[in-house]
Amino acid sequence: MSKYVEAAKRIEQFYEKDEMRLDAPMSDHTSFKIGGPAKILTQPRQPEQIRETLNVCRDLNLPFYIIGNGSNLLVPDHGIDGVVVKISDAFDDARIEGTKIIAKSGILLSRLANLAMNNDLGGLEFASGIPGTLGGAIFMNAGAYGGEMKDVVESVTILTQEGEIVTLENEACEFGYRSSAIQRCGSIVLEVTLNLESRSYADIKEVVDDLTVKRTSKQPLDLPSAGSTFKRPEGHYAGKLIDDAGLRGIRVGDAQVSEKHCGFVVNRGKATSAEVMELISLVQKVVKDKFDVTLEPEVRLFGEE
Ligand code: FAD
Repeated sequence: MSKYVEAAKRIEQFYEKDEMRLDAPMSDHTSFKIGGPAKILTQPRQPEQIRETLNVCRDLNLPFYIIGNGSNLLVPDHGIDGVVVKISDAFDDARIEGTKIIAKSGILLSRLANLAMNNDLGGLEFASGIPGTLGGAIFMNAGAYGGEMKDVVESVTILTQEGEIVTLENEACEFGYRSSAIQRCGSIVLEVTLNLESRSYADIKEVVDDLTVKRTSKQPLDLPSAGSTFKRPEGHYAGKLIDDAGLRGIRVGDAQVSEKHCGFVVNRGKATSAEVMELISLVQKVVKDKFDVTLEPEVRLFGEE
């Protein structure tokens, strides 16, 4: 019996029928619409299911991956030789206690920002247009328009690789620019407590509407992508450097530097992961040669880590 057959037999005991799939195309689970199949993909509702999946992977020595909404991922064309646990809408309860929101990590940021707004809680306006889950946003310390997760997180409850549930206060998360301690320790974000402030619905709505206009007018939201391809290099903007290097609209197959916003690589139809990787390398090389600036990918090159 192959290791994956054995793993599937053991994992399915902890899941409902439609919560586990074999050879699941990752192109269905990424905003880039790119990526070959994951050997096993599960969508848990409870932390216990995640812990049991982790145990099976440890016993059988199989790679274990977590994804949220797949909005910052580039998955290889050959797929993921491992078990992928997708923490998203099946894992998205949230409750309000005074000015705090305590939410499970699969909740979408857009839903969370709406919940905050509808309860006169300000601080999450920046996150309303980021198409990820809360867990992915903690992992990345996602941010936009001057705000970032670091500003609103009180504490984060994680499941460690050893199967322990631990709560980290904000400082222990070591948030930095698009980075967090979670990236280094490989833990799984289960629940987050956000500390928000009382603000009127009308004031919050005005900011959210303004940011939505900014986002839709500047970003290529009509085409699949994973958002900003590169981190912002110190003292520069990646999109401007790429534009100044003459790379606006350049293509490798169906992967293209967006004509609307050079900081985004978009999928014009049937782009492969290999094409996106080749385009990323080309952009990095030209920008380095012309401006001596190193562009570091913000997109997570998944399955290669
Ligand atoms: P995924 O892409 O699924 O995963 C990203 C990483 O997080 C992976 O390494 C994964 O292992 C890890 N991860 C996910 N969930 C968990 C969990 N529960 N526990 C532990 N690790 C986990 N980002 C910004 O910061 N600002 C923006 O303004 C922004 N705009 C975007 C616009 C568009 C159109 C798109 C497509 C993307 C944009 N992004 C932006 C990128 C992306 O939405 C964020 O990085 C988001 O936080 C990723 O969340 P996710 O749930 O999709 O994570």
